[in-house]
Amino acid sequence: MTTTKTSYITCPLCEATCGLEVVTQEREVLSIKGDAQDVLSKGYICPKAYSLKELDADTDSIRTPMVRTGEQWRTVSWDEAFAEIERGLAPILKQHGRNALAVYAGNPNAHNLSSMLYLPILLRAAGTQNIFSATSVDQLPKQVSAALMFGTALSVPVPDLERTDYLLLLGANPLVSNGSLLTAPDMRGRLRRLRQRGGKLVVIDPYRTRTAQEADEHHFIRPGYDAHFLFALVHTLFAEELVQLGRLAEHTAGLEQVQALAQHFAPERIAPLCGIDAETIRGIARTLAHTPHAAIYGRIGTCTQEFGTLASWLVDVLNVLTGNLDREGGAMFPKAAAGAKNTSGLSGKGRATQVGRWQSRVRGLPELFGELPVVCLAEEIDTPGAGQVKALLTVAGNPVLSTPNSQHLQRSLATLDFMVSIDMYLNETTRYANVILPPLPALARPHYDIALYQLATHNVANYSAPAIEPPVGALDEWEVMLKLAALLSGQQADATVFDDTTMGLFVRREVGTKGSPIYGRETAEILAALHPRRGPERMLDFLLRTGPYGDGFAPQQDGLSLAVLEANPHGVDLGPLQSRIPEVLRTPSGKIELAPAPIIEDVARLRSSLAKTPAPMVLIGRRDLRSNNSWMHNLHVLTKGKERCTLHMHPDDASNLGLADGETACVVSRVGTVEVPVEITDAIMAGVVSIPHGWGHAMTGTRLHIAAEHAGVNANILTDESVVDLLSGNAVLNGVAVQIEKKHIAYV
Ligand code: SF4
Repeated sequence: MTTTKTSYITCPLCEATCGLEVVTQEREVLSIKGDAQDVLSKGYICPKAYSLKELDADTDSIRTPMVRTGEQWRTVSWDEAFAEIERGLAPILKQHGRNALAVYAGNPNAHNLSSMLYLPILLRAAGTQNIFSATSVDQLPKQVSAALMFGTALSVPVPDLERTDYLLLLGANPLVSNGSLLTAPDMRGRLRRLRQRGGKLVVIDPYRTRTAQEADEHHFIRPGYDAHFLFALVHTLFAEELVQLGRLAEHTAGLEQVQALAQHFAPERIAPLCGIDAETIRGIARTLAHTPHAAIYGRIGTCTQEFGTLASWLVDVLNVLTGNLDREGGAMFPKAAAGAKNTSGLSGKGRATQVGRWQSRVRGLPELFGELPVVCLAEEIDTPGAGQVKALLTVAGNPVLSTPNSQHLQRSLATLDFMVSIDMYLNETTRYANVILPPLPALARPHYDIALYQLATHNVANYSAPAIEPPVGALDEWEVMLKLAALLSGQQADATVFDDTTMGLFVRREVGTKGSPIYGRETAEILAALHPRRGPERMLDFLLRTGPYGDGFAPQQDGLSLAVLEANPHGVDLGPLQSRIPEVLRTPSGKIELAPAPIIEDVARLRSSLAKTPAPMVLIGRRDLRSNNSWMHNLHVLTKGKERCTLHMHPDDASNLGLADGETACVVSRVGTVEVPVEITDAIMAGVVSIPHGWGHAMTGTRLHIAAEHAGVNANILTDESVVDLLSGNAVLNGVAVQIEKKHIAYV
C-alpha cells in the first residue's frame, strides 16, 4: 500500500526562504502549500512555489549525464561522463596550465546547500584565477561597499521591517522580487503593516513598480543617477546640520571626508540630472533625519549601473548619518546561526578586505572575493596568449542569457576546446558543453539557506530534509563536485575520502581559531561528535554548533545543532534583530569605515559625470513575479498567459517615434539589436524603456520546449560588456544607451 508523506521544507527558488508544506506519494508531488507554522513566512508563498511540482516532472530536465559528439547528445553512465571529462580537460590543463580552465557559477547556487559548501572546495581544486559568477551581474557592488565599510562581504545591513516607520527604497521592487539582499517573505504584508502603524514608504525608481504603486510617494529617477541623488541627500544633511550619529559616533571613522566630498552635490546641481527636484530631495533628507526609526534600502537598480558601488556605499552612509544604522527600526545586521564571517573569530576587528590580488589578463580588472568580473569572460576566451581560457565549467548558470553582450559570448563559447556543465537543462549556454552532469531534483535535496539567513529581517534557522527520494542512480551535487575536485587535483580518491579529508581540515582550522567555542579542543573529539553524518549535513551541523547560537560541542550546553533543527521542522525563531556594533565589525580599525580609500578615489569619477549630458534614451530591466532565473521559463505554470517579454515605453516616447501598442520596435545599442513588441505605459519614465531579463529562448540546440514557445528576446544582446562599475567591475544592466525605431537603424 502506498502512503502519503507530508514534508515541511524551505522553498529553494528565491531569497524569501518561504516554508512549504509538500505532500508526496512515493516520488510524486501531490500538493504544495504554504507552511502556516513556518517561523519566518507564516504560511505566505508566491505562485513560483507551485512550479516545484511541474519542475520535478519536467521531461526536458536532464536526469542522466550526457555527452555530445558533434550535434548529437547521448546519455552515459556517471563513470563514462567523468572519464570523458578527464579525457577532455587533462591535456588542456597539462599544456596550458590551471588558468586555461574558467568556471562560471550561476545564481541558483546561492539556494543550494551542496553548492554553498562544496563549490568552494571544487574551485580551490581547480586552482584557476578565472572564476566568474552571477555575482558580478548582480549584487557585487553592495558586497564591495559592505566589506570596505564593515569588514566582510555579507555584512549588509537590512531594513528592520517590523519596526521601521520610514522606508526609502531605491532600485528595488520587493513586492515582485520578494526581497533581495533582504530575506523577508511576504513583503506586501510587511509593507502594509508599516503603513498601517503610521509609517511611510517612499520609492525612487524610473518605473512605477508594483511596490511604488503601494507607496506613499514615488519619484521617477533617471537610471544611473542614484549615487548623485544619494549624495545630494548627504549634502543636505550636512548643510542643514542634521547629521546625528548618536551612539555610532565613537565607532565611526571618516566623517569629515564624506562632508568635504558632499559639497559638490548640492540638490540644485543634481536635480536636473537625476530628475527629482531640489526641494523634494531636501524634504526626503529632512524626513530621514527627523524620523526616529527610518531605513534606506537600495537593490538591483542601484547595483547594476556605472556607479553601483558608490550608490551602495551612500545608502549605508545615509543610514549612519541619520543615526539609523544598527538601531531598532533602522538598518540592522542579522546574526545568522551558521557560516557568517561576521560571527566568527574575534569580534570587533578584522583583517583589511583584500581586493585586486590578481587582475584579469586582458582588461586588467581586479579580482574581488576570489572572482573576476564576468564581463571579462568572452575576451579571456578570445584573446591568444599565456593564460588564455580554453575550457569552461559552468555550474547552474546560463551566462548566454544573463551576462552582457550575449552574442559576443556565444561566439566565444563556440571556440572553446572543452566545456563541462552541471545543469538540469540543455539550455542556451549548456548547448556548447561537451558533457552535462545533472544535479539532484530540488525536492530531493536537503536544504538550509546558509547565505540568505545572513540577510534576514528576523533571525531564524530552518533545515529541510529532502521531500522525495532521489531518482535511482542520481548523485548529489556535493558528490559530483568532490569527484570533479579529485579529478582536477589529480587524485584518485573517491568523494567520501575527499569529504573526510576536507572536514578534518575545517575542524583543525577551527580548533586553532581564537574566539571559536572549540578553540584548543581535539580535532578527533569534534569529528567523533559529528559521526555518522557526512556530506553537507555534517558540515552544516559543524557550522551550527560552532556558530553564535550553537552548543559548542558541549554535551551539557543548550544550543543549536542539526539535531535541534531536525526536531523543529518549521524552523527555530532566534529573535528580532539586535544592535551589533561594534561586535559585528571586522575592519582593521574596529570602526565603521565611512570613507574607505578606494571609494573616496572613485568619487572623482562621479564628479566628472556631473558635466556629462545624459543619454536621451536608456534601457532598464524589470522583474516579474513569475520569473527569477531563465530556467523558470520552461514551466507552463510560470509562462502561461499574456506575453511578458515586451518593450515598455512611455506614451510620449511612443508618440514621438510613431510607435503604437503591439507594434514591433527595433532597439539598437552599441553592441546589438533586438526586435521586440511595444507595450505603451505611463508607468515608465519618459526617456526610459524596459525589457525583462532571462528571455531569448529561440536558439537552436536547446531542449526547452515550453520556453521556446514563449521565447521573447534576450535583453543582454543590448547590454555592453565594456561599460562597468569601475570599482567592482560589475556589469551595467540599467541605464544602457539605446536608440529605437520601427525598423532597423545603425547605432551612431
Ligand atoms: S517568494 Fe520565493 S521563497 Fe517564497 S514561495 Fe515564492 S519563490 Fe518560494
